[in-house]
Amino acid sequence: MRQMFRQEAYIGTFWFHRGKPDAIAIPVPAILDQETFDRATVQATHNSVFHRGRPSREYLLTGLLRCRRCGHRCRTEPNSGHPRYICGNYERHPFRRFCEAPRISQRKLEETVWNAVWDVLSDSKMLYGLMRETHAAEEKTTIGSGRDALVKRIARAKRTAAAAFELMLDGDLEPEKRAAAKRAHLAAEAQRKEAEATLRAAQIAVLPSRDEVAEMCEEFVTGRDEITRFEAKREFLETVVDHVLVDAPDMEIHCRLEQPATAAGSEGPGKCNGALGPYAIFRAPISFVIKRRVA
Ligand SMILES: [Zn+2]
Repeated sequence: MRQMFRQEAYIGTFWFHRGKPDAIAIPVPAILDQETFDRATVQATHNSVFHRGRPSREYLLTGLLRCRRCGHRCRTEPNSGHPRYICGNYERHPFRRFCEAPRISQRKLEETVWNAVWDVLSDSKMLYGLMRETHAAEEKTTIGSGRDALVKRIARAKRTAAAAFELMLDGDLEPEKRAAAKRAHLAAEAQRKEAEATLRAAQIAVLPSRDEVAEMCEEFVTGRDEITRFEAKREFLETVVDHVLVDAPDMEIHCRLEQPATAAGSEGPGKCNGALGPYAIFRAPISFVIKRRVA
């Protein structure tokens, strides 16, 4: 019930891509009028404060946090009023830990993550630098020499297909040879398509330009004031943060941002800044990593 009253769609606003740069508020028929909605919200808040059944503590990083030491997901523990995150690599009954990564105070960790993300999103120079760094590393590891091989294979298949096609046009060719040329042409075309699909599936993100990054930052900063409630904060983090690796005091915030659609549309095939030439016409989400220490 509480969940229901917190969704503004019940009073006539539906958020598309809420928290993302291209968020759109769509008016929908209101189920409750504003006054009823406000009263219900007050009641729900009252209930959550005075209802003593379930603990209602809100953890901002639930599900996003992983232990850097062992890779396990982290859990939360109330710790009698001083809540903490703990590596989830443990047994409950009897309590036994299999990873000794230090526990971290919820307040400290959430504050550090929140500030680190906003520091970067409000500084386009820093954001661009981090994107470049991660992009260069990804290109090296994910495709590396495999990409060159694919590009070569595509070129070879194109040559073979063209030669076979040439043969098929020869009017004096014997029927068996013509049939063989046709088969060779089909096979080469199939090889080309397969290699191109592999290249596409590798989804090398094309690095956005400095101007595009500056524009992204501007949009984030403009929307920042609206992100105040827990739900909004959580939604925002889910949009920007893929996961956080922590082994206190070290921490890596792995982020990924969807790229604005206009950026892809304005660039035609063959005009991208990636090393893929005419094949890099798609725009995968762009990732970057923020490294911080938890104070
Ligand atoms: Zn661990």
